[in-house]
Amino acid sequence: MNIRIILLIIFVPFFSFAQPKKRPNILYIMSDDHTSQAWGIYGGILKDYVKNDNIKWLAENGVVLNNAFCTNSICVPSRAAVMTGQYSHRNGVYDLEDSFEPDSMNFVKILRSGGYQTALIGKWHLGKEPSGFDYYSVTPGQGRYRDPILMTKENWKDDQTGGKVYKGYSTDVITDQSIEWLKNRDSSKPFYLSTHFKATHEPFDYPERYADYLEKTEVPYPADFADKGAATTGRTHDGWPLDLLGTRYQQSTGKEYPGREFSLKGLDSLTARKKIYQKFIKDFLRCGAAVDDNIGRLIDHLRKSGELENTIIIYTADQGYFLGEHGFFDKRFIYEPSLRMPFVISYPKELKKGNRIDDIILNIDFAPLFLDYAGIEKPASMQGESFRKNLQGKTPAGWRKDMYYRYWANESNRPAHFGIRTERYKLALFYGQSRTKTQRDKMKYAPGWEFYDLRKDPHEDHNAINDPRYKTIIKDLKKRLHEIKNESGDGIEKNETIKELIEKYW
Ligand code: CA
Repeated sequence: MNIRIILLIIFVPFFSFAQPKKRPNILYIMSDDHTSQAWGIYGGILKDYVKNDNIKWLAENGVVLNNAFCTNSICVPSRAAVMTGQYSHRNGVYDLEDSFEPDSMNFVKILRSGGYQTALIGKWHLGKEPSGFDYYSVTPGQGRYRDPILMTKENWKDDQTGGKVYKGYSTDVITDQSIEWLKNRDSSKPFYLSTHFKATHEPFDYPERYADYLEKTEVPYPADFADKGAATTGRTHDGWPLDLLGTRYQQSTGKEYPGREFSLKGLDSLTARKKIYQKFIKDFLRCGAAVDDNIGRLIDHLRKSGELENTIIIYTADQGYFLGEHGFFDKRFIYEPSLRMPFVISYPKELKKGNRIDDIILNIDFAPLFLDYAGIEKPASMQGESFRKNLQGKTPAGWRKDMYYRYWANESNRPAHFGIRTERYKLALFYGQSRTKTQRDKMKYAPGWEFYDLRKDPHEDHNAINDPRYKTIIKDLKKRLHEIKNESGDGIEKNETIKELIEKYW
């Protein structure tokens, strides 16, 4: 026998035994605003109207989070919270105008130095150059739906004017590039890939193949669709009604928004709102259908390349979104439709198929989870916790029973607020003041509290802050809110005007 073969027989078993366990690949797919009501797997009035074969496949072959929440429900801050495992007030990314510093700590850097090959393809939206990625190809700012521009290290520009045009529909192009990267990567290392779709963000554009989808259907309306604002709901503000989207449609359908000319001429306000909703919801679901197609393409690629078993696949959205609930669109609020992050994860090696988890999980927990899967300890500065055990159905003792939320930006109909959500209740103070201004903001309504019993009023249609039956509960919740605000590191108000408002209204 050849001496080399003899040596192989002796040493190969030894080396394979000595080698560390093969670490999983991680494919993190995140869309923009693709809210839980539009996923189908969470039930709701749209469940029979969505195209979701691949999301459903992930849910059937993986684990679904029923109570994943965003700590600040707006694109840029949520993305920064995911990258850092920290609340906005800790990572410094409070609002849309803020950007994420390349030299900040982020979990991708840690994965990379821990031996992972890392890439980011699609929407980044954190202003400055992405860091921690071996490769990136990202849209400038929000990006566009048709023939998207993507910037790589070679043509990145801080003012977002760099990049190259790629022909096609953005969700398809981002997936093409993700698959290309997967094919050409260094297969000796495990990978971490962020595939971030621009979809389903406004203006909710879709590819030609979905132009007729739901065309002849009247999509059902949420129960509180005719919401008339603060006066009838006891809310502290009017919110962000679909009627505003109607104005945008009338001004620029066919240019910024898909479809032809849009008119509301001669319609009473409820009929007009219904017409706006039908366009909005159909565009949104068409746009979401293309996301589902492309999730399927990514799964297929992993299956064909033999990597499906050893790859953790996650699909989530950066936050939730109102699809006509309260008559609203957009996000930002602590209310359920925007607070919720839909989340599904499949990892055949470790997770039981078809499980659903009710534990409260936050976007700051994602980074610790990824590091946990990679066998790397999380840095002490990360505020979130790995929920790997929760996903296995073994909730750690002492796991959180409530969460802290804070939305920092401020306008009259979308006041700055913070609050607590427990398994059953929600309490929030809408203080309504900009973080960066010392002059008191001009507001339509005075600051005020809102309270909801989610068991009795799951759609949060009636602010029950003055209901005497809840007096003790509200008092206890205020105390707990004070505590978790401090625990999260947001105890000291830096803005004097905000500090005074909180003291005055507490
Ligand atoms: Ca978003």
